[in-house]
Amino acid sequence: MSAVDDKSKTGDETSAPSIAAPNFVNEIIEEDLRAGRRGGQVHTRFPPEPNGYLHIGHAKSICLNFGAATKFGGLCNLRFDDTNPTTEDPEYVASIQNDVRWLGFDWQDRLFYASDYFDKLYAYAEQLIESDKAYVDSQTQEQIAAERGDFYRPGQDSPFRNRPSAESLALFRRMRAGEFDDGAHVLRAKIDMRSGNLNLRDPVLYRIKRAHHYRSGDTWCIYPMYDYAHCISDALEGITHSVCTLEFEDHRPLYDWCLDQLPVPCHPQQIEFARLNLSYTVLSKRKLLQLVDDKLVDGWDDPRMPTLAGLRRRGYTPEAIRAFCERIGVSKRDGVVDVSLLEYILREDLNARAARVMAVLRPLRVVIENFPEGAIEWFDAQNHPEHPEQGSRKVPFSRVLYIEQDDFREEPPKKWFRLTRGAEVRLRYACLIRCNDIVKDPQTGEVTELRCTWDPQSRGGTASDGRKVKGTLHWVSAAHARDAEVRLYDRLFSQENPNDGDDFRRFINPASLSVLRECKVEPHLGTSQPGDLFQFERLGYFCADASEHQASKLIFNRTIELRDSWAKIDGKP
Ligand code: ATP
Ligand code: MG
Repeated sequence: MSAVDDKSKTGDETSAPSIAAPNFVNEIIEEDLRAGRRGGQVHTRFPPEPNGYLHIGHAKSICLNFGAATKFGGLCNLRFDDTNPTTEDPEYVASIQNDVRWLGFDWQDRLFYASDYFDKLYAYAEQLIESDKAYVDSQTQEQIAAERGDFYRPGQDSPFRNRPSAESLALFRRMRAGEFDDGAHVLRAKIDMRSGNLNLRDPVLYRIKRAHHYRSGDTWCIYPMYDYAHCISDALEGITHSVCTLEFEDHRPLYDWCLDQLPVPCHPQQIEFARLNLSYTVLSKRKLLQLVDDKLVDGWDDPRMPTLAGLRRRGYTPEAIRAFCERIGVSKRDGVVDVSLLEYILREDLNARAARVMAVLRPLRVVIENFPEGAIEWFDAQNHPEHPEQGSRKVPFSRVLYIEQDDFREEPPKKWFRLTRGAEVRLRYACLIRCNDIVKDPQTGEVTELRCTWDPQSRGGTASDGRKVKGTLHWVSAAHARDAEVRLYDRLFSQENPNDGDDFRRFINPASLSVLRECKVEPHLGTSQPGDLFQFERLGYFCADASEHQASKLIFNRTIELRDSWAKIDGKP
């Protein structure tokens, strides 16, 4: 295992997933409530930038923000942090709302956009200039960067730092009016070029950028920077606890500085937590966008993507994702969570809810020689072994069946309990059959058919004379089965940390998708609806594809195998 902290160990545990790990943000809020701070209110927000689809890392933030509001009887807003016109798109706005709702959270009437605050943000900027807390700098970006210094060297004051407020104000108004080219001037906060915190070395608050904004159109040619817009947006919405990821810790003094200078309605408390990192995947919108743009996946909702849209299409449930977020907890220490923890929790959830059905992915023809042509036996198959109340269904049995190619070996290894010539197995829910002979393709030598007999005294699967039969196979009746396409998905990356190296795309798992087009599924699945979840007995959990599955073309995605096959490869328990 590469750089992982002790959090990764949680992935190998098999304790109950419902156990919630510590959440220090909730502890802070609890303490604030106990001490009567912030008027006893809890008001959080989830503030995505609409420049990509949400991923499972965002789910952690959503569960944290909406979860805290629910837990403490407060409110949580959804706010689009849309101050960067070049990367934002209404498609992302729609997908984000859809995903937050799907995850099970409701912002009610509190849907906000930072871009709705452009007028207010601008007015506050004028106030900063008037009180000599901000100035227009007319240097180039390069000059500003060169003067900024670094961790070891203090910055130098800009020659424009002490230009009169009135001059800055006039220039700022002309910036807004569109009189200057992009980059000709910027508005900077006047804080301290010698501060040990680089974020306080007169950060840029506004830049000129002639770009069409998906909401404000061409109204603006100057746009506020994130650090300036974010804290004011929080304050305007009456946020009490502004929760963000650790990389903003060094920005907190700037967050506080801005709010301290301005007559904003309140001063929220910024709290930073460790973002979610997950093994065998990447959680960065930039990288996910690259996968989409380079067509390495089939769009943002490709079932291999760690996006909420991808996970949903793969068959993940919102319950499993929420349970996972509870289980990993919220701390201040960065680490990597083992993806097998997510998969384990998913299996638990699917085991409880998915109906059992039979499907044969790689069919091998079986002819029951002593079963009359045209006859049908209907056997009772349980829908869920642990939940008898979910009832049963009838599955048809006839002279020609399909079993899995893998369930037959001409030359079986030791301890082979499945089918081989001369052996007897149980067909799940049906009866015992014995293989008497095999038929091969004369050209290829491939086994194309098994000639078998059934024991009519073994209906239900037990022999009347008490003889023991160990192997149980799934099967479908050829005459009744429906054709289906099954897409076997696996982890998108074969490397535990795909971010470790020059290009994460090199670690894409070449076997992350295989498509089987000649599958046979029991007739019952002909009425399945897009999104329906099943356990294909002995094979794993599958869902009817949300986009392409239809009555005339059945398409199932493998959500996950029944057991962690990766654990075996890694030599893990
Ligand atoms: P990315 O790094 O993927 O581009 P981002 O932080 O730029 O993500 P935002 O749209 O700004 O994306 O994220 C919205 C909220 O979700 C922010 O509060 C951010 O801190 C949080 N968030 C983003 N990624 C994660 C993560 N991996 N774990 C927890 N929270 C996250
Ligand atoms: Mg961000």
